[in-house]
Amino acid sequence: MKKALAVLLAGTMALGLGACGSSSETAAADTASTEAATEAATETASSEDTATTEAAAETTGAAEETSYDLSGSKYLSDGELTVGLNAAFPPFEYVGDGTDSFEAITSNEGNATGFDVAMMNEIGKRLGVNVVIEDMDFDGIVPAIGSKIDCGATGMTITDERKEAVNFSDPYYNATQAVLLPKDSDVKTEDDLKACKAIGVQAGTTGETVARGINDSAVVSVKSFNQAVLDLVNGKDDAVVIDQVPGEAFQKQYSDQLQLVDGSVFNFDVEQYGIAMPKDDEVMLNAINGALADMKADGTYDKLLDEYINNYEAE
Ligand code: GLN
Repeated sequence: MKKALAVLLAGTMALGLGACGSSSETAAADTASTEAATEAATETASSEDTATTEAAAETTGAAEETSYDLSGSKYLSDGELTVGLNAAFPPFEYVGDGTDSFEAITSNEGNATGFDVAMMNEIGKRLGVNVVIEDMDFDGIVPAIGSKIDCGATGMTITDERKEAVNFSDPYYNATQAVLLPKDSDVKTEDDLKACKAIGVQAGTTGETVARGINDSAVVSVKSFNQAVLDLVNGKDDAVVIDQVPGEAFQKQYSDQLQLVDGSVFNFDVEQYGIAMPKDDEVMLNAINGALADMKADGTYDKLLDEYINNYEAE
């Protein structure tokens, strides 16, 4: 879909002060188990044969050699795939310095980079379409699919509620919620979270749903995880509920101020990320699933995981 998009950036200030948690012991994130969980979650078929991988990438990369017929696609037959994301979710999407080379990406609002950006670039190459990146509020992405944007690729958890509005690709990443806390916080259990006065979340996320399920009246819902994390660092919030791997990325960024408690400590569910698409484009759904499967089979997917997630360094 060819279209220009004006983005509204809304900043919402969080209110609410106060300590929470009754335990007097110091909570410490179990780094070893966190890393083990992350590795397990990101583990997929391994790529041994780089030569084969590169050969496969070459034959599927060029537009004229694509094996995907998009002529019947309502949204992609014009040769353009517009991708909505919220670039406050490292290492999946965040604002980079603009130096990454993404061959299929012809326009990249806010210099977004990260795993999802690289994955959509690769999908665009394989489908033979130009990719346009739109950086928008997370809670505006699902409503915009099929109008302002062709799809959403933003660490979006596949949920039954969202499935009523959009199609999802096959799952591409396993995730869970986790809890970011100030380093000196005593919060260790769900009961401690129930005693919190201010729990920051990004509006419309599964983290918001989880936090509301635990302590609805304490939830401080803001437009961006960048804002929620700043409010935590500045002492306005007591905790932030966020996906585990982005939580680790923010913890690394503010390692003197923050700790992360693994979602398994709170028995949070496993979630799966998918690319969200319009319901009325089966051709697009099949093409994107096909490109994803090809990337997994030829090792490209693992290469991108390594580059953008396993070797992510906070900027
Ligand atoms: N996985 C979470 C969700 O889908 C958060 C995604 C995000 O904030 N980008 O709600």
